[in-house]
Amino acid sequence: MPAPRTPLVAGNWKMNPATREAATQLGVSVRDLTAGERARTVVCPPTIWLTAVATAVGGGSPEEGRLAIGAQTMHAEESGAFTGETSPLMLEGIAQYVIVGHSERRQYDNETDAGVAAKVAAAVAHGLIPIACIGERGDERRAGLTATVIERQLRAAISRLPRIAGSGLVIAYEPVWAIGTGDAASGQDAQDAAVQVRAILAESDRSGADEVPVLYGGSCTPENAAEFFIQADIDGALVGGASLDAERFAAIVRIAAGVRA
Ligand code: PEP
Repeated sequence: MPAPRTPLVAGNWKMNPATREAATQLGVSVRDLTAGERARTVVCPPTIWLTAVATAVGGGSPEEGRLAIGAQTMHAEESGAFTGETSPLMLEGIAQYVIVGHSERRQYDNETDAGVAAKVAAAVAHGLIPIACIGERGDERRAGLTATVIERQLRAAISRLPRIAGSGLVIAYEPVWAIGTGDAASGQDAQDAAVQVRAILAESDRSGADEVPVLYGGSCTPENAAEFFIQADIDGALVGGASLDAERFAAIVRIAAGVRA
């Protein structure tokens, strides 16, 4: 019988808030509202506010009941001529998590499956927990390609990982058509994707597959969160819009902790 997976809820603040003060205040409010919850809670501020938020919340931890810090992206290389980028070395000691392959970065910043593979491996090599995002676009879903896209993106994401067990890897299933639209997937859609993810992971590592938290992302709110968290293979959420409101984000964390207890 595999050990139960601790629920994990991560907030992707994207390019918000606009000031350091607002960012640190949001981080502190989330920390205070989620302290002691039986969940791993993560906030992912913009790169420029990472240090300020990490300092304000008092240093994160990947453990349950404490607020951890995540970056929204990073470069795979440790250093070099990569204007505007942030390396895994720079994140060490500030962030514990890093989002990799978010659909907005795939769409606007040319993030490729091969790039995601390099970043997942680099994150793990540097002691960062990668939250690797996968998910189909609306046109791919309408063409019946959901499972094909999930398989391609997932196989690429893990292709440079020496092993899954012990890597800390987190997979976020985020159907692109559900992100920021208010049109969330159904609990069953998310469960079907998570089952597929675990089956693919299990091909190379059965016990490693049982360790990996699979999150749902896409218009997740306190109103619909329970529908996802009651699914056997969904272990939490990656939250965009609702993570900018500390009360609403904390409510999602409480629902995850309550439902998955
Ligand atoms: C996201 O950007 O990862 C996301 C899930 O956004 P939203 O919750 O706003 O749909």
